[in-house]
Amino acid sequence: MLRKFEDTYQHKGLRKQLVQQLRDKGISDENVLNAINNIPRHFFLDSAFDKIAYEDRAFPIGEGQTISQPYTVAYQTQLLNVKPNEKVLEIGTGSVYQASVLAEIGARVFTIERQKKLYDKHRNFIFRNKYPNIKFFYGDGFEGLPTYAPFDKVIITAAAPFIPPKLINQMKTGGVMVIPLDEENVQRMLRITKLEDGSLKEEAFEQFSFVPMLQGKND
Ligand code: SAH
Repeated sequence: MLRKFEDTYQHKGLRKQLVQQLRDKGISDENVLNAINNIPRHFFLDSAFDKIAYEDRAFPIGEGQTISQPYTVAYQTQLLNVKPNEKVLEIGTGSVYQASVLAEIGARVFTIERQKKLYDKHRNFIFRNKYPNIKFFYGDGFEGLPTYAPFDKVIITAAAPFIPPKLINQMKTGGVMVIPLDEENVQRMLRITKLEDGSLKEEAFEQFSFVPMLQGKND
């Protein structure tokens, strides 16, 4: 049966409450909050999650993967400080929710997924026409996208075992990477800025819990 996508007043109301919760938790970037207010998160989930899609939780999206918690998406996007037209490389397309938040802010998004089954679903992505500024790639995020480099921003949405050197190479001078880096079972959110002399400035933030960033493709 074809699924009917409806964004009802009830969904919109729940979304407003979610945005308020994110504010209460310290998210203050109005571009990020607006994007979350505008995007029907329930469209990114199986219809079984319709009633709970606006709880501040991660949910399964198949293939053992998850859509990140809204707080995590907001937190990473705020740290990234995205401006319209910036080129952003995302590792871990998953449900396309994070990519949509970036696209809603006006970024040109290049997103990579290593799971073929998830990547194949992206062909039917409901907002393909609304967000022509999202480009989908099937591949290993550790390799990045040398053809499309350099990028203004890089966002990694899986638990990284180390800082991928090829992704650092693919950043512009002044470019920023937001990466959850492994720290014994949890990840520390880092913001890495590539300075004029090529050295890296590292800032450390809160701890989060992500699914692992894995090497190679999975078809
Ligand atoms: N940004 C996603 C979060 C998905 S969870 C969202 O908004 O829904 C993390 C995703 O990263 C998973 O889909 C997983 O398959 C993918 N992933 C893990 N390692 C990867 C790699 N090396 N390259 C590309 N994608 C990867």
